[in-house]
Amino acid sequence: MDKNKHTGGETQKVKLELYKSKEKIHPREIKGRFQTLRTLAVWVLLGLFYVLPWLNWDGHQAVLFDLPHRRFYIFGLTFWPQDFIYLSWLLIIAAFSLFFFTALAGRLWCGYACPQTVWTELFIWIERLVEGDRNKQIKLDKGPWTREKIVKKFIKHALWIALALWTGYTFVGYFTPIRELGHNILHGQLGPWETFWILFYALATYGNAGILREQVCLYMCPYARFQSAMFDRDTLIISYDEKRGEPRMKGRKRREEALAKGEPVGDCIDCTMCVQVCPTGIDIRDGLQYECIACAACIDACDEVMIREGKEPGLIRYTTENALEGKPTHILRPRMVFYFMILMGMVGLFTYSLAHRQSLQVDVLRDRNALYRIVDSKTVENVYTLKIANKGDKLLHFEVSAEGVPGMQVVLPKQDKNKVAEPGQLINLTAKVRAPMDKLKRIQTIRLTVRGKEDPQAEDTEKTKYFGPK
Ligand code: SF4
Ligand code: SF4
Repeated sequence: MDKNKHTGGETQKVKLELYKSKEKIHPREIKGRFQTLRTLAVWVLLGLFYVLPWLNWDGHQAVLFDLPHRRFYIFGLTFWPQDFIYLSWLLIIAAFSLFFFTALAGRLWCGYACPQTVWTELFIWIERLVEGDRNKQIKLDKGPWTREKIVKKFIKHALWIALALWTGYTFVGYFTPIRELGHNILHGQLGPWETFWILFYALATYGNAGILREQVCLYMCPYARFQSAMFDRDTLIISYDEKRGEPRMKGRKRREEALAKGEPVGDCIDCTMCVQVCPTGIDIRDGLQYECIACAACIDACDEVMIREGKEPGLIRYTTENALEGKPTHILRPRMVFYFMILMGMVGLFTYSLAHRQSLQVDVLRDRNALYRIVDSKTVENVYTLKIANKGDKLLHFEVSAEGVPGMQVVLPKQDKNKVAEPGQLINLTAKVRAPMDKLKRIQTIRLTVRGKEDPQAEDTEKTKYFGPK
């Protein structure tokens, strides 16, 4: 009965929270070691995003996902649809990294590297620049619509929209050469899809980082919901040390009186600085909550307070559930070592296969109509179809050779002799492989090598079966 009552109450509370109009959160500005790390992450990640499409490499844009021509340039590498495996591999490595770092240190991704966090930091920085610090922003929001308020709001939104449009332009610049895109915008020649995606991405940036902010993390992000499944009792979490902090007590005088009476007094002075700096507006002292994006702002805020009070910092800190209960913590646990080894193995293999990636890929298919053909009394012929993918960036003519039987020769039909493959093109060549009958067994393995005449790197050798009459 009690349980039902409790459940009913919880449901009511959830309903009320969902229908309650959300009060805007004005996080207080904070300085500290974790904030420095976060600022660094913003600079590096946003710097990369905005600068990369402007870099050139070998006469083309260094990073360009050229969808119309179905090729991706990433610095010196050109990827074709046949290289889709690398993208899948990269996604698997990214997913594994997320598991590994989440199991190790909780929501590191959310706090430092998620685009939502990074862009929100930038939008909040603009807001502070125009409207002032937290107190000034609260006063401005609560105050009437004066001339000053209208001007400040107008400037803030104008800057946000400009940044959002530039972000949309940069995003589309990864798929259409960015200089050409800029030229098209300036000359009013922008295509409908480019216009749509620039506006769509701009709207998403403005809406998510400017207006919705923490609500994206609270209500829209799926990762926030399942990340706790990757936690264990040794995962680093940001937590308030209740044993040390409670009973909290506000006011120096009250604390001194309580101490004089011999009453217990915790280290928390209930200054609420940890709540004021929190971008999601929660109180970390209420325990681990899914709303916490692990930005560590509350650690910086509380450390500053503790130092000012002449106490040890670390009342809020990175710790583990085991450590909080006074049990031993094992950061290097078997699960972590296993994840790490798999991750390193995948990264190593990925790097190796990229470094040894061939610019030519050949698949050999045997002629299904006949195992072999007798050309004359001394010569046998097997016919193969060679599927050749030119993954380099040069136009190629081909030569084909065969090894495995002395005196073996390859004859290309007239129509295939001068066949070329454009960069990224897949072509079929018919190869007639002839061998002296007296050197043949019933079945032998041979190697067929295809070389691109214009590129010494363009070479691939494949094994196949060769059939003779004996
Ligand atoms: S910042 Fe520290 S001292 Fe202040 S309320 Fe938060 S936990 Fe307590
Ligand atoms: S509780 Fe602390 S770590 Fe969590 S979101 Fe708020 S400020 Fe960031």
